Amino acid sequence: MRIDIDAARIVSELETLATFSDTEPPAVTRIVYTHADQRARAWLKEQCIAAGLSVREDALGNLFARWQGSEVSAGAVGTGSHIDAIPHSGRYDGTTGVLGGLEAIRALRRCGFTPRRPIELLAFISEEPTRFGLGCLGSRMLAGSLTAEEAADLRDRDDQSLDTVRNAAHFSGSLSTVKLPAQYYSSFIELHIEQGPILEKENVPIGVVTHIAGPAALRVLIEGEGGHAGAVLMPQRRDAFLGAAEIALALEADALSTGSEDTVGTCGLVDVFPGLSNSIPSRVRLELDIRDTLLSRRDAVLHHLEKQCRDIAAKRKLRIRSTVLHADDPAGCDPTVTTALVRACDAEGLAYWRMVSRAYHDSLFMSRIAPTAMLFIPCKNGVSHRPDEFAAPEDIANGARVLARTLAALAS
Ligand SMILES: [Zn+2]
Repeated sequence: MRIDIDAARIVSELETLATFSDTEPPAVTRIVYTHADQRARAWLKEQCIAAGLSVREDALGNLFARWQGSEVSAGAVGTGSHIDAIPHSGRYDGTTGVLGGLEAIRALRRCGFTPRRPIELLAFISEEPTRFGLGCLGSRMLAGSLTAEEAADLRDRDDQSLDTVRNAAHFSGSLSTVKLPAQYYSSFIELHIEQGPILEKENVPIGVVTHIAGPAALRVLIEGEGGHAGAVLMPQRRDAFLGAAEIALALEADALSTGSEDTVGTCGLVDVFPGLSNSIPSRVRLELDIRDTLLSRRDAVLHHLEKQCRDIAAKRKLRIRSTVLHADDPAGCDPTVTTALVRACDAEGLAYWRMVSRAYHDSLFMSRIAPTAMLFIPCKNGVSHRPDEFAAPEDIANGARVLARTLAALAS
């Protein structure tokens, strides 16, 4: 079977999708449930219907476009990604997987393929944490990793509840209906730009993802004693920031100590009170991010860090409280799906590398309810979440072609 991908069409559709934005081009800003997001969804639905797919949306706003198979009740082969975009980002993150997936389906229809299993395109809602502070909202709920009760407690930065904003965007109905039934998908594949530099640097067109790292976030509140930066002598100080600095360095040491490059730790938020150069810091809030492909290793770092917080508190006479904000399990991709991807690369004569996804994606949650894998394509200089994000038409076409062949194999 020869699969022809219309690369120019995907590029022009990516261009059109980028116009539904709340910032001037080339920057894209498309926050979930905003007018820009709604217009983008309406346009996407039109494209799916024009491709002959039947479209439905769930109570949260996840969008499904189905190509029915000859065996109507069989579990579907799913593919897709997200179309929301963080402020001032680019046009390829997520969208490449949605529009590349749509073109993969169109290409299979053009070449006369008849699927046995249904093939379904899925545009997840709210992959980015911008509005509700929690990433992958759509896939979390589809997988049942976030319950309807938990979701009801979510509020955006303007303190509006999830129900208020989704209802305003015309998504009504109970959130308890969002979770997918068991065996709904027989497999799931997400096409995505790499968002890192490896494929481009090594000149490899396809990355077959074997593991998706699981993130954990820790909030640490440190209380010491403030005072005049000149008057209080060093031995008498209980400087909250110095405790925070020790914690940040302990995180680095712990992440390095596992001996695996897959363990990464970041201290990206430091809030110092009162935040004046002539005042001893009395309070500090830290937020730490720890990721790994292996749950036990990630949690060992997390727990050791919590112990070190207690030790540092005792040593420096500080009060330190730590709270795990979230901890998602890493995922291994399914060998059946990765094998299908590898076979598709071989059939297309495309080189591939097996690699780890260090960013997390909706596939992390889909892997809990279906055999799941991801494929990456190169992006320029590894840049993502910026207006200059770019993927070459040829690379997008390669990704869509491998995806189409994999969908066909899994739906046969
Ligand atoms: Zn993405």
